[in-house]
Amino acid sequence: MSMNTQGRPSKSAIVLAMEANKGLVLDEPLIFEQGAEGRTGIDLPELPKYKERLGGVRRRAAIGLPGLSEPQVVRHYTRLSQKNFGIDSTFYPLGSCTMKHNPRLNEKMARLPGFGDLHPMQPTSTVQGALELIDQLAHWLKTLTGMPAVAMVPGAGAHGEFCGMAAIKRALEARGEHRTKVLVPESAHGTNPATAAALGFTVEAIPANAEGRVDLAILKSKLGPDVAALMLTNPNTCGLFERDIVAIADAVHKAGAFFYCDGANFNAIVGRVRPADLGIDVMHINLHKTFSTPHGGGGPGSGPIVMAESLAEFVPLPYIVHDNQGFRLIEHAVDAMGKKPFGRLKGFHGQMGMFVRALAYILSHGADGLWQVASDAVLNANYILASLQDVMSAPFKGPCMHEALFDDRFLKDTGITTVDMAKALIDRGFHPMTMYFPLVVHGAFLIEPTETESKETLDAFIAAMRDLVREVRLGNVEMFKQSPRFAPSRRMDETRAARSPILKWTPADREENGDNGDITRDAAE
Ligand SMILES: *Cc1c(COP(=O)(O)O)cnc(C)c1O
Repeated sequence: MSMNTQGRPSKSAIVLAMEANKGLVLDEPLIFEQGAEGRTGIDLPELPKYKERLGGVRRRAAIGLPGLSEPQVVRHYTRLSQKNFGIDSTFYPLGSCTMKHNPRLNEKMARLPGFGDLHPMQPTSTVQGALELIDQLAHWLKTLTGMPAVAMVPGAGAHGEFCGMAAIKRALEARGEHRTKVLVPESAHGTNPATAAALGFTVEAIPANAEGRVDLAILKSKLGPDVAALMLTNPNTCGLFERDIVAIADAVHKAGAFFYCDGANFNAIVGRVRPADLGIDVMHINLHKTFSTPHGGGGPGSGPIVMAESLAEFVPLPYIVHDNQGFRLIEHAVDAMGKKPFGRLKGFHGQMGMFVRALAYILSHGADGLWQVASDAVLNANYILASLQDVMSAPFKGPCMHEALFDDRFLKDTGITTVDMAKALIDRGFHPMTMYFPLVVHGAFLIEPTETESKETLDAFIAAMRDLVREVRLGNVEMFKQSPRFAPSRRMDETRAARSPILKWTPADREENGDNGDITRDAAE
């Protein structure tokens, strides 16, 4: 047991954690802090005599696994699983993230041994079914968007952006044009300007008009022979459809530039609008948003891009072809007859598990079902907008698409901020909405209910929000500043948590002498 500065035994991590328990919400020290030497859940036989073959590379200290009994281990992981707040626990209205229910059917399909146990380096003759599945999904993505070409490899939305913009860069090179600028509306997701900058373009922002949409006149004034592309999100991150989108596409094309669409919000229009009909040249689709596959916590995403004829020949490697030899992967530029791939984007062929889930989602919904997905997502968001706009402040006139946007004018001079509202919402059992994004409105609340929430859930959320507004009006500033009161951890330094996360536990005695206990070569050998 360690001692505190007064020489009294300091409290163990487990005692401190127990003191932080609230009701049956149990706090949980790290498993390393719970361990005790010599304690174990199982007995292993003595190792038989063996000859060491480490060649002088061996640990100096024990590996440092905690000693724990079986019930301690079971409780630890069960408690952690209970802290795993997610879409399976309750409403998760993160705007722009599309946290919708993940049908169990998709999970079952993804776990079929023929899909789940594949290795990406298997010969293609042994994975014909998997390649056919990727090809079928590609077919439906092209059908739903009206686009002639698709690249399945990108591993996330941002990766899809990079892929699409790399194809644009290659297309401009092929034309012998040196265009350096990419136009991005102010309301864009941060990944858009980051993508353009990563590819060496300079970024110029386009302001929004009073309706929360791209200002067409300003856009036109910025188009010129130096502009490579416009990156536009539709529906945009204010939850609004860009009504001038066809005129925008015309203007962009007239200037010789490409029209990149951020299609992360495709769930609002899937089955109802074909992006090809809007004049888009290339668009990424977040399978993990529109087509339901699980995401969050940095888990796997999948961001295929669809391309118009203008960019189809620059599709990245590898891609799948189907001929009389069955399904094949084109892995090298020399085999890409007639095409000019910009290169390879990823080690293998894309996120197989996500492909299975997305295709299961598409096929199980069917055409009428996908149409209904978009309709219900938009209806649910408008229900929230209509039910809260008399007490909160909506910056733009409705109706909205798949997400409802509010700003913080209703909090003016109250001493209560957007983040205070979000923290108080946690105490009422709801995950906060997206806050302070998009940047074009002050103190944004961006609420995306998705199509999977019931009216009862939406009503409960609306009631919680209205109740918080009542507390604002009563001037209960202290209640807000103290929130969340019932969460295991309360207000944290979120900037420090993001900027300097502590990802490795170091025992106190090793911390003191600066030794992290890693493998070192034995000096004597
Ligand atoms: C989610 C999102 C992205 C990025 O997608 P990732 O899969 O997280 O990389 C880009 N743009 C918009 C509008 C998004 O909502």
